[in-house]
Amino acid sequence: MNDCLFCKIAAGEIPSKKIYEDDTVYVFEDIAPTAPVHYLVIPRQHISKLDEIDESNSAVIAHIYEVIAMLAKQLGLDDGFRVVTNCGEQAGQSVFHIHFHLLAGRPLQWPAG
Ligand code: 5GP
Ligand code: ZN
Repeated sequence: MNDCLFCKIAAGEIPSKKIYEDDTVYVFEDIAPTAPVHYLVIPRQHISKLDEIDESNSAVIAHIYEVIAMLAKQLGLDDGFRVVTNCGEQAGQSVFHIHFHLLAGRPLQWPAG
């Protein structure tokens, strides 16, 4: 956990472009954006991946979605947006601190590849 990139970003030990933060959540710009809006929403608490969510930590995840809804309104994402969490290597997860990609600003293909 000490070596976790996103724990360090949330703690301010590694620089990032902050969009929002509170006691539970940190939101920052993805370093390699794939859409005009591409933010990463992470819990300060280290959870490696989505299949570690259970009743002990799901309140944090609920709060993440409250923050996403608030940001979507603030940012005026009225045309639509997408939230993506990759779980595991085959799904494309490359950083093993759970994160929610917030994507918007262009038409998004579906189904995703
Ligand atoms: P994943 O592939 O795990 O779903 O998403 C990881 C995301 O983290 C990728 O979109 C990648 O561009 C982003 N990322 C990786 N390292 C850094 C970093 O040091 N800073 C920021 N801001 N984003 C990063
Ligand atoms: Zn972490």
